[in-house]
Amino acid sequence: MALFKKKKEYIKLSPYHEKKSGERTLPDVPEKMFVKCPACRQFIYMKDLGEVKVCPHCNYNFRLSAMERLNLTADENSFIEWNTGLDEKNPLNFPGYEEKLEKAREATGLEEAVITGEAKILGMRTALAIMDSHFIMASMGTVLGEKITRLFEKAVELSLPVVIFTASGGARMQEGILSLMQMAKVSAAVKRHSNAGLLYVSVLTDPTTGGVTASFAMEGDIILAEPQSLIGFAGRRVIEQTMKVELPDNFQRAEFLQEHGFVDAIVNRGHLCEKLATILKIHTSKG
Ligand SMILES: [Zn+2]
Repeated sequence: MALFKKKKEYIKLSPYHEKKSGERTLPDVPEKMFVKCPACRQFIYMKDLGEVKVCPHCNYNFRLSAMERLNLTADENSFIEWNTGLDEKNPLNFPGYEEKLEKAREATGLEEAVITGEAKILGMRTALAIMDSHFIMASMGTVLGEKITRLFEKAVELSLPVVIFTASGGARMQEGILSLMQMAKVSAAVKRHSNAGLLYVSVLTDPTTGGVTASFAMEGDIILAEPQSLIGFAGRRVIEQTMKVELPDNFQRAEFLQEHGFVDAIVNRGHLCEKLATILKIHTSKG
């Protein structure tokens, strides 16, 4: 007699089970029931992640889509989108770029890697931009740069503060030098907004790197970050090889940047709305 004889129930739980007709079907398991935390590598039951998507073991803040972020941040029905339908070009005729954009649009439902507009956060009116790293790593091309620039310009017109949730892999290589020019263009718009006496708060989320870090992400009057977010310019290995030094484990993490004075506060996602609303209130003329 076999010691470890398989019971019938186990057979039913195998990936495929056959119907009497011989037709093979997948068992009825809900999609994405578990997810692995990229920071602590533990498996988490999706329900335990909650709407805010924070790891219950290590407090890592999972990457959100622009729509998820908008739902968490803006008051219900308060968001009015600006600057949609900007014409995307392939200025260098980079092979496969149009197809890549099309695929990203289909996968995310977005026109570009950022949504911009006006919204209310716990009743406080603000201009708002949210970047989505699921769209070609939210790299900064001409349209993304233009949308952020116009956001600041309209905020000046309407005397509104600006809140930006940054997430990016850097400049969009398919647009070459034109993508790098966005860094200067957006920075000039940030300066005009600042000259008008208006507040700009940037919220750095995982990951904020490259040309976006080197421009508007780090130009906020107040810079917040989510716990454990990767924030940096060049990659860790490039720096190690160039500088010939060994870098600490938490190098380029939000906590490291705060220790070194680049980030004002690290705020848990669950408290972000409250924190933003307080900051906006303090900086209004009435506050
Ligand atoms: Zn974790």
